[in-house]
Amino acid sequence: MEFSFTQEEERFRKELQAFLEEQLPSGWLGEEPYDDSIWPFTLETRRKLGEKGWLAISWPKEYGGSGGTPGMAAVYSEEMAYYRAPGKDTQGVGFLGPCLMVHGTEEQRQTHLRPIAEGRVTWCQGFSEPESGSDLASLKTRAVEDGDDYLISGQKIWSSGAHQSDWCHLLARTDPDAPKHKGITYFLIDMKTPGVDVRRITDMSGHQRFNEIFLDNVRVPKTNVIGEVNRGWYAAMSTLDFERTAVEHSANARRLVADLTEYARETSHNGASLLDDASVRTTLAEMAVDAQIARLLSYRVLWLQNKGDIPNYEASMAKAFATEMAMRVAASAMQVLGLHGQLEEGSRWTPLKGYIGRLYMNAIGNTIAGGTSEIQRNIIALRGLGLPRGA
Ligand SMILES: Cc1cc2nc3c(=O)[nH]c(=O)nc-3n(C[C@H](O)[C@H](O)[C@H](O)COP(=O)(O)OP(=O)(O)OC[C@H]3O[C@@H](n4cnc5c(N)ncnc54)[C@H](O)[C@@H]3O)c2cc1C
Repeated sequence: MEFSFTQEEERFRKELQAFLEEQLPSGWLGEEPYDDSIWPFTLETRRKLGEKGWLAISWPKEYGGSGGTPGMAAVYSEEMAYYRAPGKDTQGVGFLGPCLMVHGTEEQRQTHLRPIAEGRVTWCQGFSEPESGSDLASLKTRAVEDGDDYLISGQKIWSSGAHQSDWCHLLARTDPDAPKHKGITYFLIDMKTPGVDVRRITDMSGHQRFNEIFLDNVRVPKTNVIGEVNRGWYAAMSTLDFERTAVEHSANARRLVADLTEYARETSHNGASLLDDASVRTTLAEMAVDAQIARLLSYRVLWLQNKGDIPNYEASMAKAFATEMAMRVAASAMQVLGLHGQLEEGSRWTPLKGYIGRLYMNAIGNTIAGGTSEIQRNIIALRGLGLPRGA
């Protein structure tokens, strides 16, 4: 691997850092961006990023992006994660937009891309179902033709931010008799359509980012189908790896090491600084090594993208390692904080506003979202090592 950011990419990093320093309140350690109390700030930050052309930095200018390099998109991910800034748009910018650019009609592109790039619309993803996650192609939500429309009925689950969303991109079965990957169609659904019912789910950290979406004869015009009917699976999967470097996890961990080091320097226990304890110093060193390995695996993916290659098992390696690393460093940080780490925000005994505890609880989700660690390892075994497909 031969990798470095260009001067232009590093200049962008400085500009973005300056913007975030100004935009975020002093002492900001990050909040759950979908929380009702934070959501207005998330949207404000997103719109400002959109105005600067940074929200969808690598999209073409005609669709509201800046025509930036994959390196710029990675710098954006790193800095947004390091500053724990709200406003990044995973669904609209990271998933749906690239898919519309490849598979959408010109009318769909003209209608939807610019509002996404400008941060004026929020999208959620309706893929997972109660019995379809890793084996997503087994999904059961049905779409039945009715004149110029489809009527969609079924249930989705784990849709992040659906309660805040204007639109949903969703997979539904249009041909129940076809082999499972071949009878699925990809739809764009206005969340205000009658028959859409969103119910929030509370996770173990007390946050309500997840939702169930119930669909009861939801009428969707045929013009809202992405790509070909019954070939939605291929459209949805083709851009799944778009700019997925997983680099945000190492940036997050580097910030954690920096914050924890500062905390340990300022905190004393029985009259001695926490940093006088050799085990704390070695824990911090181990965390730093872990974060750096994840960063380099992500840069390898970026290097492949810069060469014009499509990353394959390398992206799975970066994702599996980085998300598991994030769990390890969060657990190590909790160890350093001791019982204080388990306190919620609000007590005078709570270190760092309780964010390490939140990080610890949220870290597991990233090893599941976007393909679990087991699925990533299957890909590495199959495509990276050339081992046979499992039964
Ligand atoms: C933070 C977060 C955000 C999410 N946001 C969304 C969203 O916005 N929209 C949406 O549609 N979904 C979303 N999801 C859901 C996510 O896509 C699914 O959780 C994921 O696909 C796994 O599916 P599952 O939970 O049904 O687990 P299952 O697929 O039932 O897996 C259960 C366990 O079995 C293992 N397993 C399954 N199959 C295999 C196999 N072939 N080989 C080895 N092990 C296997 C898995 O690794 C896992 O450990 C989100 C999930 C998380 C955690």
